[in-house]
Amino acid sequence: MRKVQFGATLGLALLALTFAAAQRPAPVAFEGARILVGDGRVIDNGILLVDDGRITRVGRVGDVQRPQGATRVDLAGKTVMPTLIDAHLHVGYENTQGWTARNYTRDNVLDTLDRLAYYGVGAVFSAGTDPVEIALPIQRDQAAGRIGGARLVIAAGAGPPGAGPNGTLLKELAIFPRSPVHGITGDADARQVVKEVAALRIPIIKVWVTDRGGTQAKTKPEAYRALIDEAHRNGIRVVAHATDGLADAKDLARAGLDGYIHGVLDADAEFAAMAKTNNAFVAPAQGLGLRGAVPGLQPWFEDAFFQEAVPPSTIERYRQQQAKLNPPAANALTLQQRYERAGRMIKVLQEGGVRIAIGTDAGATPDYPPGYPAHREMDIYVKSGMTPEQVLIAATRSGAEALGLDKEMGTLEAGKLANLLVLDADPRADILNTRKIFRVYFAGRELDRAALRKRWNPSPTR
Ligand SMILES: [Zn+2]
Repeated sequence: MRKVQFGATLGLALLALTFAAAQRPAPVAFEGARILVGDGRVIDNGILLVDDGRITRVGRVGDVQRPQGATRVDLAGKTVMPTLIDAHLHVGYENTQGWTARNYTRDNVLDTLDRLAYYGVGAVFSAGTDPVEIALPIQRDQAAGRIGGARLVIAAGAGPPGAGPNGTLLKELAIFPRSPVHGITGDADARQVVKEVAALRIPIIKVWVTDRGGTQAKTKPEAYRALIDEAHRNGIRVVAHATDGLADAKDLARAGLDGYIHGVLDADAEFAAMAKTNNAFVAPAQGLGLRGAVPGLQPWFEDAFFQEAVPPSTIERYRQQQAKLNPPAANALTLQQRYERAGRMIKVLQEGGVRIAIGTDAGATPDYPPGYPAHREMDIYVKSGMTPEQVLIAATRSGAEALGLDKEMGTLEAGKLANLLVLDADPRADILNTRKIFRVYFAGRELDRAALRKRWNPSPTR
């Protein structure tokens, strides 16, 4: 029986190889665009050679020759950059009809990953809320090239039993037979959880360290210290939702934490130095909190760039939800004060040389579907004082490094996947130009954005 299975597997593998050889396209030369490498370097009138889905050379037209037989793609006047990376979101819960854990099906996750790809997002980190029965097969199928979409990286969740995620999410998580969030109370069960995670080959653990304003139990220091220690022994990285203040952020740094997927708003130079020592990243994740009742804030969903890829009924539903929100309190921070607060943190982190990635937390709560928010997040960081060049690095190379994907993506360099975001205008001049998408390529193949738009919005509003 074993032998028969092996034979069948080998046969399939050979068939797949034959198929791949027959399908292997000619090398492609993307020519004439301004190339933003992703690490700050810019090549005007560039040429980017792609073979079998990977970049083989990048340089200036004239310096790098187009190989014989290569297909030429003229991108004169365009700007090419790496696809974006959203280092904090939650796939599966939101669809165009609403938000619930019951939406977490293979089909809906694939639809979400397609939507992210449509918006030029090449990889995402879904932070601790994914049922492994559905998420792991999707990752395997993506790795084998059987399905496309933004590359899905998931974390196993950890927190006190029955606590961690926001109340709404926590209630929804209860429908899964095996919760994506593992309960940890101290040293022993934290180490046990890491062993279970290691057996599943999940490379990242997300731990919640917050009492949610006194409404929940909070992960104890001895539990997260053991979790991080045991994770590092197993080659697993640990990131945290730590939003109760600087003392927690620093204690997590002392324990060796690898990433903060929410802003550390009161960050100081000492924290920055600790995070830098750990080679940790911070994803400020400001957009989710900047959706509702903030004085001076326009509803995010009225942007035509968002509306082009959703049915009008979804926009109408968001409008109705927005209308139900309480008006801002009289002493609420203004929009400008919110930007300044985020800006102070970002400045301290940048001065300390801390890696900043973009993270949106899209999908964690209703009515903020992953995809479009990555662009919104970049705009918020510019409004908070980063230069467009710095934000573009955060959204590409730094995101890839944060997720351990930097051998595959994050910059346009030889050996990496040809995941290209082609824009009609240079986002260094105006970060909103990331929304002027001309084309998106995954592994050198153009994504059919028109077909996706039709899937989501059969009767376009514009
Ligand atoms: Zn989150």
